[in-house]
Amino acid sequence: MHPPVEQDRKRVPFEGQTVRLRVKSGPVSGQRDVIDYGLQRRALLGDVAAGRRTQAEACDAHPHLLLAAKHYGTPGPVACPVCARHRQQHVHYVFGAALGKTSGQAKSPAELSQLAATHTEFDVYVVEVCPDCGWNHLIRSFVLGRPADSALTAADG
Ligand SMILES: [Zn+2]
Repeated sequence: MHPPVEQDRKRVPFEGQTVRLRVKSGPVSGQRDVIDYGLQRRALLGDVAAGRRTQAEACDAHPHLLLAAKHYGTPGPVACPVCARHRQQHVHYVFGAALGKTSGQAKSPAELSQLAATHTEFDVYVVEVCPDCGWNHLIRSFVLGRPADSALTAADG
């Protein structure tokens, strides 16, 4: 028997080598191509618990991320897996050519809805971050925005 978590541990989250799930969750409607990074998150936490990684390595939130969490974050539904406090924030980062200069920025859920209504497809990455201990991890990514060919379809209809 292979330990699947051990294999997933080596993967880089942003390469997206994970199972694609169709789920409806989170504060923004219209999400599709949702990718859940729970396996990698659990693997990292397992490494910390087993001493293969230090807590400092796992709790290395960049000052910019902490600032984004403060201004654009939404309260996370679960306690911090490291310090157990209940102040985790979810930060949504947007990426995509359709967004122009906005690509790479953190956005609030209201701003995401606005972007989704006015732009063609772009990627959203959700990062959980704890302002108390600095724990941070990519937890989910999904696609928002109008499908690239929807303008033609709408014009035809
Ligand atoms: Zn914490």
